[in-house]
Formats: sequence, structure tokens, C-alpha cells
Amino acid sequence: MAMHQHDSKEFGVEDLVLLSTIDTPSIVNNLQLRLSKSRIYTYIGEVLIALNPYRDLPIYEKDTITLYRGRAIYERPPHVFAIADAAYTSMQRFGTDSCIVISGESGAGKTETSKIIMKYLAAITNTAQQREVERVKTVLLRSNCVLEAMGCAKTNRNDNSSRFGKYMHINFNHGGDPIGGSINEYLLEKSRVVRQQAGERNFHIFYQMLAGLPDDRLKELGLTKSPAHYRYLNQGDSSSVPTLNDKNLMTEVQQALKAIHSFNDDITNQIWSILAGILHLGNLSFIDIDSTEGGSSVKERATLAAAAKMLALSEKELAEALCGKTVAAAGDIVSKLHSSSEAEYTRDAMAKSIYERLFSKIVALINDSILIANGENPNLETEQCHRSASVIGVLDIYGFEIFGTNSFEQLCINYCNEKLQQLFITLVLKQEQEEYMREGITWMHIDYFNNQIICDMIESPKKGILAILDEACASIGKVTDTVFLKELDKAFGGHKHYSSRGVNLSDKTLKHEQFRITHYAGDVTYNVEGFMDKNRDTLYLDIKRSLYHSKHGLLSSLFQDGAKSRAEVGRRPPTAGFLFKQSMSALATQLASKQPFYIRCIKPNDEKSARSFDKERVDHQVRYLGLLENVRVRRAGFAYRMEYGRFLQRYKLLCKNTWPNPRRGGPKENTQMILGEMGLVKDCEAGKTKIFIRSPQTVFALEEERAKRV
Ligand code: ADP
Ligand code: MG
Repeated sequence: MAMHQHDSKEFGVEDLVLLSTIDTPSIVNNLQLRLSKSRIYTYIGEVLIALNPYRDLPIYEKDTITLYRGRAIYERPPHVFAIADAAYTSMQRFGTDSCIVISGESGAGKTETSKIIMKYLAAITNTAQQREVERVKTVLLRSNCVLEAMGCAKTNRNDNSSRFGKYMHINFNHGGDPIGGSINEYLLEKSRVVRQQAGERNFHIFYQMLAGLPDDRLKELGLTKSPAHYRYLNQGDSSSVPTLNDKNLMTEVQQALKAIHSFNDDITNQIWSILAGILHLGNLSFIDIDSTEGGSSVKERATLAAAAKMLALSEKELAEALCGKTVAAAGDIVSKLHSSSEAEYTRDAMAKSIYERLFSKIVALINDSILIANGENPNLETEQCHRSASVIGVLDIYGFEIFGTNSFEQLCINYCNEKLQQLFITLVLKQEQEEYMREGITWMHIDYFNNQIICDMIESPKKGILAILDEACASIGKVTDTVFLKELDKAFGGHKHYSSRGVNLSDKTLKHEQFRITHYAGDVTYNVEGFMDKNRDTLYLDIKRSLYHSKHGLLSSLFQDGAKSRAEVGRRPPTAGFLFKQSMSALATQLASKQPFYIRCIKPNDEKSARSFDKERVDHQVRYLGLLENVRVRRAGFAYRMEYGRFLQRYKLLCKNTWPNPRRGGPKENTQMILGEMGLVKDCEAGKTKIFIRSPQTVFALEEERAKRV
């Protein structure tokens, strides 16, 4: 590891704990310097910081893989391969499960990084060329393009922005080969199915279908080639993206589906048909019926027919489900007609939920296929499969989000980041503490900000924001978003991390419909409008029932809850917030049981440019990722630590008693001898197997002296 001061002047320090000044500008400057020298990776201890280079660097080839294979993190310059290898090695050597948590804002490089990790793991495993293992690897790698087609979209930040969180589990056998795996998805941004901002697109798959399916196939689906024709695709006015070749990607998706067991032609065709159905739905509009009963009817009969055909429903049933609903009132079942705007709302809710459930189903099918892969293996005893399982998890999940207006989705995403930060801080601190204990070094108290208080504010049962929101959604009568905000004010009036106009009238930075949470990473202002609606996530039973009756087995299977009887109409399904909280808690349990590795991705600019470095933007991310806190915790006691043997090997030339070979004593004694000779003893503490060095200057002094003599 190059810890040399001259080196660090030229290339920046490889580990931020070696900075002589610990503050955000120094961190930013160091990253800038390194990026300008194409060194995109930097450590904080064993945490990897990855800068998005926005160009292809020749650093992921075979020779680099060889360079990192089986090496300890400190033996080579910082690289994502080092982290992947450490996760793999610790799993294989000690049988501990590990996980790699990748975070960072949209476009920072999380998904690319997770793909690089998967490719590295694929490259170093299955040296025996077993067919089954090869198949599992194929599914794991191939499934990615299907997931990206369905779950990624062009946004203003990233042409290939993942609109869902992903946790991938890979199971390994005792030999260290991947024999199975599974994927969990979190909080797909389903609102995108029906609405996109200027410059953005719907999910890739729609455009890929239109560009890639043969003309006769499109005709069967009732589709035209032009995205501009569809309301669900044309709002962003950005249907083609220079960096994406929709036609080729469609071919890739189709090939991937073929390679994955659980998709046969029938299922694949049903998927295209369902997606076509969604596009037709989007082109429906409604006219108010001019009568005393009110109600509305579908304007475009031909489009209705096309939608019904693609969804394998009767036209009548579809029209009825869109234009009215049945409600249970005082024991009676009453039909209620929708106004045209209610019908539009219902149409969009239908489209969103079909897509969301289809996405989950596709993930489930991919999972089946990875499981089948090891279940069917005739060469592996089933028992062996089960027993073997050590696991590497890879989490690629949305980072902190602050937009102009922040809503329920941002609250969920930022809550997720609070949870991850909580885990991170406890684990990093715990690891430090454990190492000090192991080494017999006196533990010193590290002052750090514990964000548990913010997690509690959001997730606490009964008293947290999500619970209060659920309560508001469950109450009968006119409870509006504003009422919900008043409840928040009541609950968090004196809370350090909460503010609103109701609590602090003089705070003119807030509007009346907003509240602000001081997250661990900074302030985020949320607008309550739509919170309750998004949390309720209502899909009328009539919609579910009609989709359950679809002649498409796949579509029908997505709406099993449509089979419920009318008597159950009144029962409330769990809210979106409740479900998210549950999945976060399950995720946290998963991660906490594993040896964690962290990768923090940063994007150097908003222009997707390989040349520019926007200091302000990087500064912002450094703060939002809590990197300074991370360096401080890591540096609280000692900037650097090194095993005695390694220390001696590197520095024995600094002392006549140890050069060329130590005269007596073991590595520990000789390490102390060298430090004595250099007059550096005071800055060091001797642990059982390692020497702990307080300040980076001491490391630099050693390195400089060494450079003079080699
Ligand atoms: P995120 O998942 O964090 O939103 P992505 O992983 O999709 O971001 O990265 C956005 C874009 O940045 C990619 O499409 C790619 O062009 C570029 N990129 C990210 N990481 C790298 C890398 N290591 N090397 C080259 N380009 C990268
Ligand atoms: Mg992504």
C-alpha cells in the first residue's frame, strides 16, 4: 500500500484516515486529486469509496482479477475487487456469511458496482467447470438484464436509473462455488408507470418492446411502433435515449428469458400481452354521464376492446370495474358510480398495480429458476446443498433523496437510509471495539451521532410517523393530509429532529403543508399532500376481482386477493408504509447477521461527464454518506494498524539491530525496537498481534525514512 507522502502528494492518500486534516474539504480535495489520476477507489479503513468515472477504465480485466485474487485488502491499491475478494474469502475461510452494502445517490454507480462484483465472483469460482454451477452463474448474471428492463428507467439523473431496491443473495457450497441464490426487491417506483416528468421515461421494457418486437407481433398486440402514441410513454417527451439501444436490449432480454428456466414461451407471451394491456389502458379516457345518478363511461371503445383483449377480460367487466365500485355500507353491498376523474384515478391505480405485481412475479420466477438449478442437480446431494450454504449478499439500494418536493416515497427511501446508517455505525464501532479488545488495547470512548432517535421517530410502533399515518388512514370520516400533519405536530412538537409551521410558526422556510426532518445526513422537507393516498394505496376490490377473472393464468395469479368474497370488502389491506417498514426490518435483520462490507458510491458531476468534478456536489454527497463521521470513528484512536510481521518486513531496514535480519526476539520486540530507534514509540500502542499508530504523520515518517534507504 502506498502510504508515501510524495505518493500521496501526487495521487492523494489511499485511505482517508491518513489525511493530515480531517474535514470535508480535505476529503473532497483528496477524491478530486485521485480521480484526476484515474484512481477512482479510496478506502476509509475497509470501507470503499468509489467515484463514478463516467468512462470505461481498463481496470476490470483478467490481469486485474488475478492481481486481487486471494489478497488481503491492504496488499493492493484500493479496488472493488479487493472488497469482493474479502467478502468471498472471509466467507470461505471462516464460513461466515458476508454482505456487501452499496449506497450512494442516483447515478453514482451502485448498479454498475454490483455488476462488477457479480462478474468478479463469477470469474473466480467454478474452476472445475461444473455444469450446474455454470447454470446458476448464468441465471444470476442474465437475470440482471431482465430486472433492469422492468425496474430501470431513464431519469434526469441517470439514463439507467434503478427504480427499486435490490438485495441479491448468493449461496455457495463448501467448495466455494455458487449453487443458488435469490433476489429481494424493495419499493418499486410504480407511479412511473402512469406518470413521468419532463425528460424522463417510463420503465425501459415498454420502449424495448415497441422497438424490438417484430411488426406482426406488435400488430397482434394492437400496438404501433411509436411511443408518442401512448399517454403512459409520451409525457416525458424523451422516448429515445442516445446511450440506450432499445432494439438490441429487447433481443438481450428475450435471450435472457430463454436462458432462465422458469420463463417459457407461454409466460413470456403473456408478459408482452399484459404490458400491451397497460399501454392500452393508459389511452383510455372517460366522459361524465349527464344524469342525476352521475357516473361516467369510457370514451374510446376500440381502445377499451384492445385493453380487454390484451388483459383477457370481457370488455363489459373491464368497463364496469373502471367506472364504478361496490362498497359495503351498513351491512349492505351498494354499487357506486365513478365520476370521470375517479375513473381516471382507478385506471391509473389498475395500471400501477398490474405492473407492480408483474414485476414481483418476474422476480419470483427468476428466484424459482435459481432454486431449481440446485434442486435438480443430480451430482449434488440435496442435503449437501442445504448444509453447504454460506452466503454473500449484495445490496444495491437507493441512497438518500432530496428533491424540490419530497413526498411519501422519499420518506420511505430516507428511512431506509437511516436504518442502513444505524447498522453501519453500530457495526463499524463494534468492529473497532472488538479489535481493541482482541488486541488488549485500552478502549477509548468514541463520540459519534447515534441516529436511533430518528429511526424511532419514523418507525416506532404507535408513536412513530408511519404509525400515525396508518392511524390517520384507518380513521373514518374526513381525515385529510392536513389533519395528519396536525397529528405529527402534536406528537413531535418538542422533538429535536422535527419542525413544521404548526410547531414553529416563525419558520418561514417551511410552507404550511410541509414538515421537516433533520436526518443524520441533513434536513429534508416533506410535503404532506398525497401522503395518505400513497400510504393507503387503494385498489378497489372490483379491479382485483376482474383481474382475478382474467383468462391469462399469469395475470389471474397476480390477483389472488380478487377471489375474496364481497363480505370481506370492508377489511383493510396493510398499508404501503406498514409493508415497507416490515421489509426494512427484515432486511436489517438479514444484514446484521452477516460480516458487512461497505461501498459508498459518489458521482463527480451531474453532467455524466468524464472530465468535470463538481466540488459542491461531491461535498454534498460526502456529507450525506456520513464519510467524515466514518473517518472520525476510524481515526478516533488510531489512524493505522499493522501486524508485527508485516511491519518488521517493511521497516526492518530502519534499524541496525533488525537489518538485514533481526538479531533476537520476535516481530513484536523488533517492531518496538524500530520505533524506538526512530523516536516514534510515544505515538504507538502495542497490541497482541498488531502495532497501533495514532497519527498519519508517524506512518509518513516511517515511509519517508524507508524511501531514503531503499
Ligand atoms: P446507480 O445505480 O447508482 O444509480 P449506475 O450504476 O446505473 O448508477 O451508474 C450510472 C452510469 O454511470 C452507468 O450507466 C455508467 O455509464 C456509469 N458508471 C458507473 N460506474 C461506472 C464504472 N465503474 N465504470 C464506468 N462507468 C461507470
Ligand atoms: Mg442503480
